[in-house]
Amino acid sequence: MPIIELIDVNKQYDSDSFAGVQDINFSIEKGQIVAIVGESGSGKSTLLKLIYGLLSPDSGTVKFKGNPVLGPEEKLIPGHDSMRIIAQDFNLNTYAKAYDNIAGMLSNTNLQLKQEKTEQAMEFLNIAHLANKRVVDLSGGEQQRVAIARAIITEPEVLLMDEPFSQVDSLLKNKLRDDVRRLAHELGITIVIVSHDPADGLSLADEMLILRNGRMVEIGAPEDIYNDPKELFTAQLLANCQVISATDAIKIGLKPKKKLVAIYPEWVKSAGGWSGKSFTVVNCYFKGFYEELLIERNGVHLRALNVNAEQFRKGDKVSVSISRCLDFD
Ligand code: ADP
Ligand code: MG
Repeated sequence: MPIIELIDVNKQYDSDSFAGVQDINFSIEKGQIVAIVGESGSGKSTLLKLIYGLLSPDSGTVKFKGNPVLGPEEKLIPGHDSMRIIAQDFNLNTYAKAYDNIAGMLSNTNLQLKQEKTEQAMEFLNIAHLANKRVVDLSGGEQQRVAIARAIITEPEVLLMDEPFSQVDSLLKNKLRDDVRRLAHELGITIVIVSHDPADGLSLADEMLILRNGRMVEIGAPEDIYNDPKELFTAQLLANCQVISATDAIKIGLKPKKKLVAIYPEWVKSAGGWSGKSFTVVNCYFKGFYEELLIERNGVHLRALNVNAEQFRKGDKVSVSISRCLDFD
């Protein structure tokens, strides 16, 4: 049995507009990391609140281990007891010490156990050295860790995280992603994160759900929906792909099957020798270990990645191989 199940879930904030989520159907297995990815306003936070029980669906059912999740009208303290949610603003007491923010989640009936568990949670997240600092004096990434420690100390079965990495820089993001992975793999916590950044889902999730205007576009393993997206929208969101018409595709030597062709930048490579098609370099962008080239052939522009040592300049001729493309209507 899945740990969480959403069946035909609809939630509309007001009857005239389409703000909310519609026709949501998916399930989550225990111990999985699921990422809900979509643009701002696509309904990600709404979905998270529906799972937790902070909102009730207008129709449809949210289930936890086969039982309906109670909505805020049905429960004195809203939110499912076996789940914890970490809101975007972390919801910490910023003028209290990190230690007290975490320990405060436990009752005082067993003070020794309380101290042990708090120390354990802090060690798991490598924040033991921050115990006596006030939250307000911590960095965004450290606050994030305090918020996670505070959430897991009560041993929830499900952890819901709303935009968990939005306040940290990219180097730290990788560390935090590792922490989240450990929560699932070492502690067996089922994790649902929502993010507007597809990279979070791609590198972290077992399953990724793409949301657009409140509707599910598709769901699947990150590799699968990245490499074989059902919808053009997914390809654009995940891969920053370029889209050209079938007519233009023919002009650069492709054989399109439908009206539109989507090409990921990494599928267009500069190739030595005569194997590829000849393009002209219109512009070069230095990206560190690779170059991004804007190239042109018969009036059609493409972006290509050059990972070779050889560098190009404007006006150079470049032989290009296009390893794949996707056809869409
Ligand atoms: P996301 O988290 O993906 O940015 P949300 O779930 O917060 O999106 O919001 C989805 C849509 O619902 C947006 O158009 C938003 O303006 C609207 N919305 C969110 N909360 C409310 C609310 N309490 N009342 C009315 N509309 C809301
Ligand atoms: Mg949101």
